[in-house]
Amino acid sequence: MSRRLNATNHSSDATMDIAKSPYRASDSFGSLTFSGDVMLKRLPPDVYMNLQRTIKQGTPLDPAIANTIAGAMKDWAIEHGATHYCHWFQPLTGTTAEKHDAFLSVAGDGSAIEKFSGNQLIQGEPDASSFPSGGIRDTYEARGYTAWDCTSPAFILRTGDHCTLCIPTAFVSWTGEALDKKTPLLRSIQAVSKQAMRILKVFGTDAGVSQVITTLGVEQEYFLIDRELYQQRLDIAITGRTLVGASAPKGQQLEDHYFGSIAERVLAFMSDVEARLFELGVPVKTRHNEVAPGQYELAPTFEAANVATDHQMVSMHVLKTVAPKHGFECILHEKPFAGVNGSGKHNNWSLSTDSGHNLLDPRENTHSNMQFLVFLCAVIRAVDVWADLLRASIASAHNDHRLGANEAPPAIMSIYLGDMLTDILNQLESGETKRTKNGSALDLGATTLPQIPRHTSDRNRTSPFAFTGNKFEFRAVGSSQAVAWPNTVLNTIIAESLDTLATMLEKKVGKNATQAKLESAVKSILQETVKKHRRVCFDGNGYSKEWHDEAAKRGLPNMPSTADSLPALKTKRATDLFAKYGVFTARELKARFEILVEQYVKIMRIEGRTLSTMVRTQILPAALRYQSELADAVAGAQAAGVECPDSEAALREHVQRISQLRVAIAEVDKTEGKHIDDVEKHMRQIRDELFPAMQKCRTVCDELERNMPDDVWPLPTYAEMLLLR
Ligand code: ADP
Ligand code: MG
Repeated sequence: MSRRLNATNHSSDATMDIAKSPYRASDSFGSLTFSGDVMLKRLPPDVYMNLQRTIKQGTPLDPAIANTIAGAMKDWAIEHGATHYCHWFQPLTGTTAEKHDAFLSVAGDGSAIEKFSGNQLIQGEPDASSFPSGGIRDTYEARGYTAWDCTSPAFILRTGDHCTLCIPTAFVSWTGEALDKKTPLLRSIQAVSKQAMRILKVFGTDAGVSQVITTLGVEQEYFLIDRELYQQRLDIAITGRTLVGASAPKGQQLEDHYFGSIAERVLAFMSDVEARLFELGVPVKTRHNEVAPGQYELAPTFEAANVATDHQMVSMHVLKTVAPKHGFECILHEKPFAGVNGSGKHNNWSLSTDSGHNLLDPRENTHSNMQFLVFLCAVIRAVDVWADLLRASIASAHNDHRLGANEAPPAIMSIYLGDMLTDILNQLESGETKRTKNGSALDLGATTLPQIPRHTSDRNRTSPFAFTGNKFEFRAVGSSQAVAWPNTVLNTIIAESLDTLATMLEKKVGKNATQAKLESAVKSILQETVKKHRRVCFDGNGYSKEWHDEAAKRGLPNMPSTADSLPALKTKRATDLFAKYGVFTARELKARFEILVEQYVKIMRIEGRTLSTMVRTQILPAALRYQSELADAVAGAQAAGVECPDSEAALREHVQRISQLRVAIAEVDKTEGKHIDDVEKHMRQIRDELFPAMQKCRTVCDELERNMPDDVWPLPTYAEMLLLR
């Protein structure tokens, strides 16, 4: 992808080598992104080169070039219809935030000019007081700053006829503490790079590598339902999921939806989404029907994690905003419908050198294969040692319906490796590494090391963390989650693990490294690591009761709910870990913990109140109407002298259900309304009281739904929402 820039159309006549970044798809396409050719054409060569150095090598941004870049960006944006710009950031709410400013200003002489300075590009100052800070600052010191992240391309977002230049930024408080999800992600990316470079150095493969890049490709699952139906369901509109609803006669039993042919209307929606994402530089690649009826998936080609994370946020936004144009509502919730699969976000993660070598790809020569095994074992070790933090990184009220709830994947963190890598672990553990189980082996040249066939990829849909050939797929991430947070945790625990292995290796290999010394060091370190940590590897069925028992025997943590898993974030070892790698200060981590707990409490209470409203204003009134209908039928029959014991029984049962519902909803109201000062205690009370009360109430509602006339039932049914298109 390298090409020559003959700069004759610029002021300088220098000829330079310009390489597009292999991990930024926007450099190659994305007509509405300020990157690649757009930058090349619009910036003077020296400014361009200067900026590229920052983007690719992580050198600090030179403020002297900011004005020139801002001017070029403004002209380009205005030519493409933008009237405003915004600093686009990811506060701790889990969504994105933007505050728009017009390019138009009034000059000293009163004339209108279009202005956008370097300062306005690199720094903004939104009022931070309305964003959660988890106690990092009080409202009277609400100052927050946004800082331009030039490694992620600026883009023009079209909303109807309006175009806004969006500048990806980090969001920090005036004390410099991170108030967002991007800043810690960037820090964690740096931490992994630093430790991974040490491993490369030991193997002598660091020549020409200036950094190790975290690569990320995130598959997004979602549901589509008719917008008209959506608007009649208060629960989906407010909470994103159905709080009541009897199963449809047909769910996913026939397995006919997965990879099925895509309905025309859905395909029109998908194409529209893809066209918009392409403009924005998001490299969408795959689309297909998912397992549940009404469920679909969108997947991009992987990119550098920071860019991929921004693009993931953009993708969710585009899915949500394009759906109504096609008469749909796009539902990103982890479990919108009971009884059919929920939605995840498969977080495909790997490490690559900036020269393009995927470090988790078993390659063909001895050195890189040994090196591959070190990286592989570092990941295994990290997931075992820090399973609680990894679990906490995907905890939310929404994801509780998937993890630990007999659904894919389980709440126990484990790694799927596949037959062949498992066999290799066996060999590493025994110290006898002589054979390969299957596939055509790669000749490693060293008999002391295992032979690795090239295609090791296998499938296991029940594993929360699976090795898939040349990357790991973290499948337990929730579909509505912002991926910055789980990747921040993942990167940090990997950094710690690489640090540990690098330290061991450096010590054993010593100053005068020889091939023999290196091989023997790798062998003994891997043997020790595998022995200690392979308990986290499991290839069987992750849903099964046997695995839950086996995992308990192996001492693996099983934290089925958010309330069980979040406290891992406030332990001393977590605080020390994040501080050691410069990802979070103790205060920043504590803030995240508090915000996550608060969010859980808020979400659950909103759900409780929504359920109460629906039951009291829709379901109970409808049930009473039907009660009169039944009573009229019985009275009518009796007046005509006809005996009707069945109708009488139906009336009696119906009346009973109504009183059960009254009791159940009273319990929901009571448990929802409890005032508890300690927010952690409140979280546990909600798990133990409100959640079961809501479940009980739902059971009664669903029983009523199954026994009431369709024209009296006040809500769109599962069949209408999922099956009738
Ligand atoms: P599936 O998991 O459905 O078989 P693929 O294996 O093709 O699909 O890839 C799934 C996702 O993993 C895609 O987004 C792809 O770009 C991403 N991916 C592939 N290689 C890497 C890598 N080295 N690092 C991160 N993500 C990757
Ligand atoms: Mg996948």
